[in-house]
Amino acid sequence: MSISYRCPTCGRIGEVDDDLAGQRINCPSCETEIGIAAAPGRDDDDFMPLAELQQARRNETFAEEARADQTIEWQRELLKESRDQSAHLKKIADNTGCIFIILAIWFFLGIAAVVMSIVGAW
Ligand SMILES: [Zn+2]
Repeated sequence: MSISYRCPTCGRIGEVDDDLAGQRINCPSCETEIGIAAAPGRDDDDFMPLAELQQARRNETFAEEARADQTIEWQRELLKESRDQSAHLKKIADNTGCIFIILAIWFFLGIAAVVMSIVGAW
């Protein structure tokens, strides 16, 4: 009985005797070290079967993409927040401007009243 393997580097598909199950071989084409999965029905090896390995890699990729999405989401939140804040600050500045103008008018009216009373006293 033999076990088939696929080289992750060059994609070469080959077969080895099941004596080599759970061991490492070098790819005949590119010399990459390949872990040979155990024959079906045996699970006493450290090596993942090809399908599981691919699934694990796919899950990793998904996790990375999810992290990237999360980061973009955070950046959007931050941008929105800072926009809200600057709108809020602008509102405060507008209100402060109005109050300042009213105070200035009162101030000048006060001075005018003082000046008029002095002039009137003369
Ligand atoms: Zn290879």
